[in-house]
Amino acid sequence: MINGTEKCMEITAPAHGDSAEVQRQRIDADIVCVGFGPATAGFLTTLSKQLVNQDGTPAVESAVMPGAPPQVLCYERADDIGFGVSGVVTRARGLRASFPDFDPKNIPMAAPVTEEKVVYLLDPIGASRRSRTLRAADACIRALRGLLPFQDGAVELPWSPPFLHKTGGLVLSMGQFMQWVGAQVQSTGAVQIWPGTPVAEALIEDHRVTGVRLLDQGVDKQGKPGDGFMPGMDIHAALTVVGDGPVGPIGQQLDAQFGLPEGHHMRDWAVGMKFVMDLPADTALQPGTVLHTFGFPEPEIFGFLYVHPDHVASLGIFVPSWFDTPVRTAYRYLQHWMQHPYLWRHLKGSKLRSWGAKTLGESGRRGEPHLVGDGFARIGEGSGSTNVLTGSGVDEAWTTGAQLAESVLELLKAKRPFTRQNLEETYLKRRRASWVEVEARVAERSRDGFQKGVLRGMVGMALAGLTHGRFTLNGEPVPPYKRIPTIEEYYRGRIPEREIQQLRQECAIKGVSLHGALMQRCGWPAIPYDGQLLVSHQDALLLGGKVQAPPGYADHVVFLYPELCERCGTKICIELCSGQAIAPGEGGVPDFDREKCVHCGACYWNCAQPIPGNPERMNIAFRAGTGGLHSAEN
Ligand SMILES: Cc1cc2nc3c(=O)[nH]c(=O)nc-3n(C[C@H](O)[C@H](O)[C@H](O)COP(=O)(O)OP(=O)(O)OC[C@H]3O[C@@H](n4cnc5c(N)ncnc54)[C@H](O)[C@@H]3O)c2cc1C
Ligand code: SF4
Ligand code: SF4
Repeated sequence: MINGTEKCMEITAPAHGDSAEVQRQRIDADIVCVGFGPATAGFLTTLSKQLVNQDGTPAVESAVMPGAPPQVLCYERADDIGFGVSGVVTRARGLRASFPDFDPKNIPMAAPVTEEKVVYLLDPIGASRRSRTLRAADACIRALRGLLPFQDGAVELPWSPPFLHKTGGLVLSMGQFMQWVGAQVQSTGAVQIWPGTPVAEALIEDHRVTGVRLLDQGVDKQGKPGDGFMPGMDIHAALTVVGDGPVGPIGQQLDAQFGLPEGHHMRDWAVGMKFVMDLPADTALQPGTVLHTFGFPEPEIFGFLYVHPDHVASLGIFVPSWFDTPVRTAYRYLQHWMQHPYLWRHLKGSKLRSWGAKTLGESGRRGEPHLVGDGFARIGEGSGSTNVLTGSGVDEAWTTGAQLAESVLELLKAKRPFTRQNLEETYLKRRRASWVEVEARVAERSRDGFQKGVLRGMVGMALAGLTHGRFTLNGEPVPPYKRIPTIEEYYRGRIPEREIQQLRQECAIKGVSLHGALMQRCGWPAIPYDGQLLVSHQDALLLGGKVQAPPGYADHVVFLYPELCERCGTKICIELCSGQAIAPGEGGVPDFDREKCVHCGACYWNCAQPIPGNPERMNIAFRAGTGGLHSAEN
């Protein structure tokens, strides 16, 4: 019988069913990197500046190409550099340390932060699922509106806690910034970045990581070789740098292989979905403005709006794993959020430029895996660097990458191998002594209060932030599936079961998710599509995300135990899917359409069923895959 861990390993292994006849090409490098996000960008920026002396001679020597500088390769899954999603407002401490002469004018869409506001949005529709306490609070606010900074159904908080401030920081398009960094790094000639090249797995021999295997091409959806089969190459390297983000398959494989440190778990997540838009030319929003919202469309959903130069804004919402509903649909909620009168007065008449979604690993320090081992090191969000208290991940990810680069240079110069012990004595030591660690410790338990409600969560967060982590409110994070009631349970008292059944059948016949019908039934108005900004989900995929998937690759989203899907009462994977790539399928097992997938990874942690033998692992595998978003504005 297959136990949970073995199944976990099996799914992170390549799907081609390797056999003796498969001849794989081999490349020998010194360092191989997985993923080119902010973490690896920080690593390569720091490393590439110090590999070669000013006179062109190697500052340190390659082990695989004697006489040359170390051979450094980086493989990125997305079809080009910067095709991911992020906010971003950042204090940019790490970025500025790497680029002391940094001038935002050199990067498209970059602006210094000029104004920050935290805004509480009341419910203008009456459909939001507010607790009695929150409804009472809303009634008080409305009654006292003349005395409060109340405007268009919202209250701008007169004071916001300092830990949220990004004073002196930057508003960026991460896509544009990453393209700029990619060009800088490659112009040194010291490293190569290969986009459109997913890494399928880490090569592991006797508990030592010896490199990576790239994804097979010319296979069918199940990974079986067909015409034009090209087995993925094996890249052997003394050091594998894993910076594949919060749901990266190589991080998953290492977690399955080496486990997590005692007491650590990854149970807190969110999916962030965003629009980039052209605001009306006469907008009152000034570049560098930063708004954070809470309260609407649901109390658990936080929103953000950042203003770039030239009347462009990035905005979106986060739907967290502790949002206890089986309809965690980011797209529909994002459209209701944008139409809140407080925001709509600025957004009306705007035009969609870009759209996308991505998972945020919210466990932070508590989700930290083993950061180093023989032959590997982990950096960035997949290494637990994201700070949920300050709402900051880019600067932290970048800084962990820069710290690893300094450590690698130290080891190369001393001709010490990349063993676990040597990496602990260099990278781990730097990381533990840095602001990333100090602030991560403060944030570690800051959001536990949200496990027992929003108001409690906000109080707990404020307490943790204001007391530097000494106090917060308790709440034990549980795996997301434990928080998901069935649709019948959730709507009990509001929609009769018979009606839910009927709506379910109608939606299954149309091949669409159920949440639209359920939300409408509970008072959420239909979205008045205008073809410009309020567009259908399909139009957002095509116009905003420009989503594509090249042929000849295996499906990267896989339903591990179909029998669990057949019995599943929520089918939350269909309801939440950011790209409508998961749809009702035959016999209760959903269908996956690779061509619509934006690689947000939200299905991986949202699935409602744990697999047999592993209560921390859900029934969806999220493997390495190609394609996805084709926009570098996010
Ligand atoms: C909507 C949204 C808004 C956010 N806003 C902010 C903000 O305002 N400020 C802030 O500081 N942070 C923000 N964040 C968080 C921030 O984006 C992350 O913390 C940061 O991007 C983490 O960087 P990383 O390099 O660790 O991982 P990632 O950015 O996830 O990069 C990982 C890279 O690895 C690649 N990859 C994955 N698997 C493979 C594979 N098998 N082979 C090859 N490549 C692979 C991915 O394509 C990706 O390019 C936001 C996040 C979201 C989703
Ligand atoms: S993948 Fe998970 S959420 Fe989706 S139907 Fe299967 S068990 Fe249910
Ligand atoms: S199928 Fe793709 S788009 Fe849908 S939730 Fe999963 S990763 Fe995101």
